[in-house]
Amino acid sequence: MTSFSDLKITRQYQNALEELGFEKPTPIQIKAIPAIRSGQHVIGIAQTGTGKTAAYLLPIFHKIGYAKGTAARCIIIVPSKELVVQLVEQVTELTPYTDIRYVGIYGGVGRKAQAKAIHEGADIIISTPRRLLELYEKEHIQLNKVETMVLDEADRMMDMGFRGQINAILEVVPTKKQNLLFSATFSARVEELSWNFMDFPVKIEITPEATPVETVEQVRYDVPNFLSKIRLLQHLLADEESFHRIIVFVKTKKTANAVFNALSFIASEQKRLIHSNKGQNTRINAFKDFKEGKIRIMISTDVMARGIDIKDISHVINFDVPTVYEDYVHRIGRTGRAFRTGAAITFVTKADKYHVKKIEEKIRMFIPNRLIPESVEITETPFHENQEMERAIDQQKIKDDPNFKGAFHEKKSYKSKIKQKKTKRPPKYTGKTNSGYISKTKKVKRSSKKGRHKK
Ligand code: AMP
Repeated sequence: MTSFSDLKITRQYQNALEELGFEKPTPIQIKAIPAIRSGQHVIGIAQTGTGKTAAYLLPIFHKIGYAKGTAARCIIIVPSKELVVQLVEQVTELTPYTDIRYVGIYGGVGRKAQAKAIHEGADIIISTPRRLLELYEKEHIQLNKVETMVLDEADRMMDMGFRGQINAILEVVPTKKQNLLFSATFSARVEELSWNFMDFPVKIEITPEATPVETVEQVRYDVPNFLSKIRLLQHLLADEESFHRIIVFVKTKKTANAVFNALSFIASEQKRLIHSNKGQNTRINAFKDFKEGKIRIMISTDVMARGIDIKDISHVINFDVPTVYEDYVHRIGRTGRAFRTGAAITFVTKADKYHVKKIEEKIRMFIPNRLIPESVEITETPFHENQEMERAIDQQKIKDDPNFKGAFHEKKSYKSKIKQKKTKRPPKYTGKTNSGYISKTKKVKRSSKKGRHKK
């Protein structure tokens, strides 16, 4: 069994690792640490939760040695400010016995304090791409002494459109340096980036692409509509013992707000909401409180889904099925982190089945179906919600078969119209406004008539 001392990790870091409770290196650490220490360019394909951050940090610390000069010798680029904060935390945890200096910088806050910290001298700069360039352009950062550059969460950075900024950074850093690229997936865009970024890299792959960490138990519930999803969520969250730290992922900010309001039975200090409309401080504080175990339930859109490391998450609940399938992998990656087990629960409506099938193909696993407990009230699907799902199903069929006419279920729409008269619309449903809904219904009627004429 390989140990940290087999990997020639020096005593001061071994002490820090011991204090953190890291008994043995993870597979990515076993492979990446020697490769990076030998000076090679390394591409690491590993999800968060595998220990990949320490896999590149530890050899970087050894290379840096000790605090020296004022210019940074290592830059680490990550896609979001939350990741910068988290990375700074990891560096702090790993370096209590060295004098290595580091600074985390990100946008959305004033530049002054960050510039001052850099001027005081930093051996490592951890940054989002845009802020690094901004500070460079204002001559607050000297990049000509960079010896190691890390692009972490490279796939995420490509998805977020940071390609231009990364190219601009590559123009201003020395060409002769060690380059490290880490990514959860090796997409075509990441591969292309690696061609630009590094010559003859060693590629280290820990799990096959997009395979969820094996420790995560996955289940799905087939739930007919929004209100029933709320009821099921309320039922699950009532079990405080096993559901002790949960992230509920939703598709939109609107649903996030609606779910938050529907959990009124849960004390407000136990739950928090984060999405991109929330101020940066609110997001960072929520994230910090959640990480420290001060809050039990986090409701989030995908802002948080990737890269964020929070330990001991008991459950990830996909209130909505993600339609970007990689997001499923990233979402469930929140649980079952580094040798722990967790559970990922996905709520599936009839319109989501298509996406679940695609996700199952991607992860090469079946997500087992669990029956909804009898005590959970299943409500009838309101007309407008049903129409929306039917419309989505038509869209999916058209996507798979462009000749599909999308007749739009004329019989069903009539039946569900009758039902709608009897079913009171749930007050918190996040769907369309009345006017939006009426205009859509009109459109529906026209297309269903057309369909009938043709027959
Ligand atoms: P990462 O994949 O870098 O996001 O790391 C996921 C989590 O695993 C972090 O909380 C690390 O602190 C933790 N971790 C990293 N290496 C080890 C290790 N060798 N043993 C136990 N936990 C680790």
